[in-house]
Amino acid sequence: MASAESFPPSSLQADNLIHVFWDEGILKHDTGTGVFDTGMDPGFLDVLEKHPENADRVKNMLSILKRGPISPFISWHHGRPALISELLSFHTQEYVNELIEADRNGWKEICGGTFLNPGSWDAALVAAGTALSAMKHISDGHGKIAYALVRPPGHHAQPTQADGYCFLNNAGLAVQLALDSGCRKVAVLDIDVHYGNGTAEGFYRSDKVLTISLHMNHGSWGPSHPQSGTVDELGEGEGFGYNLNIPLPNGTGDKGYGYAVQHLVVPAIEKFEPDMLVLVVGQDSSAESWKLLIGALRRVIYQEKSSQSLYYEGNPITCNAV
Ligand SMILES: [Zn+2]
Repeated sequence: MASAESFPPSSLQADNLIHVFWDEGILKHDTGTGVFDTGMDPGFLDVLEKHPENADRVKNMLSILKRGPISPFISWHHGRPALISELLSFHTQEYVNELIEADRNGWKEICGGTFLNPGSWDAALVAAGTALSAMKHISDGHGKIAYALVRPPGHHAQPTQADGYCFLNNAGLAVQLALDSGCRKVAVLDIDVHYGNGTAEGFYRSDKVLTISLHMNHGSWGPSHPQSGTVDELGEGEGFGYNLNIPLPNGTGDKGYGYAVQHLVVPAIEKFEPDMLVLVVGQDSSAESWKLLIGALRRVIYQEKSSQSLYYEGNPITCNAV
């Protein structure tokens, strides 16, 4: 993989700016404190931990984009809340109603560690709408790459249930919008350390979406996450062969990720020939995954032709994840 030091390349032109979509409404999702993600105070700790999915991590991403080395190459855009009707392209009405009712009642732990608190639903709608705006910007031909910096995250959220701090599948909604806007085929590459089970589930029976996930081999973690993330989950029906799970051993570093990308991800994407690439870029595998992202994005955005790197001529958007 390329080193982060060479990013951005000197060949960067004004017409391939990174279009970042941002709305501070996503900060209204307060996940609280406790022991890790339990929200529980055992009563004998001086300092309770912030929930691992908290606003600070996104604030730091925002500051990096605003003041970091790539800031001159970013075009900023406002996000927006999604309409309820827009959610139904990926989620069922019954599930959306469950979330609306939880918000109306003020609070609910939808599933383990996944708290819908006052303000959370508004933030989730803004995250989904902002991802949709980013996709529309690209599908309308206004740029080559967009980045939706959003939370609550989405890649565990399935059509019918929340999971792993995720309520609405921001990337899944963006994928469906791309298909509805005329894209024939969309590839999803998820490098978050956890299996992107929600996105995979949403398109598990479709041959129009190739879902690829690199993740630790954590398996199922309960009723909200029945998928195993193993290599034998390949899709069903017309979607058989269009879900590629790449579980990696704990401790996998740059070389392992690079090998998997070179020998599995790139050939699969090239064979699929998508019109659009959606990257789901949780950075929780390690500090190194950021380098992987930089290297991958660099090739995707600037179309550096190389048989040994991720290379794709389509239009990518990215969504943040946990
Ligand atoms: Zn994760």
